[in-house]
Amino acid sequence: MDDDLMVSDATSSLPVTYADVRSAAERVSGVAHRTPVATSRTVDRQTDAQVFFKCENLQRIGAFKFRGAYNAMSRLQPDQKERGVITYSSGNHAQAIALSGQLLGIETVIVMPENAPRVKLDATRGYGAEIVTYDPDETVREDLGQRLADDRGLTLIPPYDHEHVVAGQGTVADELFEQVGLLDVLLVCVGGGGLLSGCAIAAKHHAPDCQVIGVEPDAADDAARSFHSGTLHSVHNPDTVADGARTPHLGEVTFPLVRAHADDIVTVSDEDIIRAMHLVWQRMKLIIEPTGALAASALLNGTVAGNGRRIGVILSGGNVDLQRAAELFRRIGKGTETT
Ligand SMILES: *Cc1c(COP(=O)(O)O)cnc(C)c1O
Repeated sequence: MDDDLMVSDATSSLPVTYADVRSAAERVSGVAHRTPVATSRTVDRQTDAQVFFKCENLQRIGAFKFRGAYNAMSRLQPDQKERGVITYSSGNHAQAIALSGQLLGIETVIVMPENAPRVKLDATRGYGAEIVTYDPDETVREDLGQRLADDRGLTLIPPYDHEHVVAGQGTVADELFEQVGLLDVLLVCVGGGGLLSGCAIAAKHHAPDCQVIGVEPDAADDAARSFHSGTLHSVHNPDTVADGARTPHLGEVTFPLVRAHADDIVTVSDEDIIRAMHLVWQRMKLIIEPTGALAASALLNGTVAGNGRRIGVILSGGNVDLQRAAELFRRIGKGTETT
């Protein structure tokens, strides 16, 4: 990718390097928010650690996905920009592509299931994207996406399995290290592994001894099994509250990067995810979505021990409707509290 930097370590044959993360940081600078880092004495006491929460729930479109989408779209060739971009997603990546298209003057087409939540359809359309809906019982979204891409000459930008997307997501950890200095541990949620890949690359640059740990739901433990076995495992339609982690498997780009740079991947229960989400809402006054609570839950439930260490936790996103959050809190018996 960027060939202006010579890298000679053993990982130099991998498709994304720290130089790519730095280059992405320059691209998104002044466009993406430099999100704040939150701390909480209550959490520090409870976990016996010094915890730094990177607030990507406060990023544009409410999740880190804006960084990768913008980095990738800003690097397209002029003729690709002219023809436009397509993606399939009903989640945060759709909005990230739509907003990046609006900012860069690139037309965007988003393939979404017709039963996607109205708010998501409206938000994505609000950024000027063209929405193409499909019946999920009749149509395979990848096929429809590919057909539209071929017919209209659109460039497909997937949500995680793409070098420029990974490099963009890595700017989250790059910024966190700039903001707080060295960390002993960095906790990152895992769906398709774009965020974990990029953040692990940045973390190992800033602090080679930092333990980078991915966190995924018990019911969607494909990345943990793939990481530990060295062969790619899939889980289809996993039943978990963390909808951003329902991806079937790591990607061709992300799997080798995660294997090379992450130290471990652990799993947590849905109940622990909701408990972590509740604590962050209530104690820290930060609205995070279930997937945004994944990394925090591994620390708060004791899977990762504090041991007096400096621990970074990425709060990856905040897009959850309040009705849904209230429902989840009731599930763990926190629905009727009046604080
Ligand atoms: C997409 C997403 C994830 C998972 O990211 P990957 O790069 O697919 O691993 C986690 N949290 C939120 C809020 C997301 O939108």
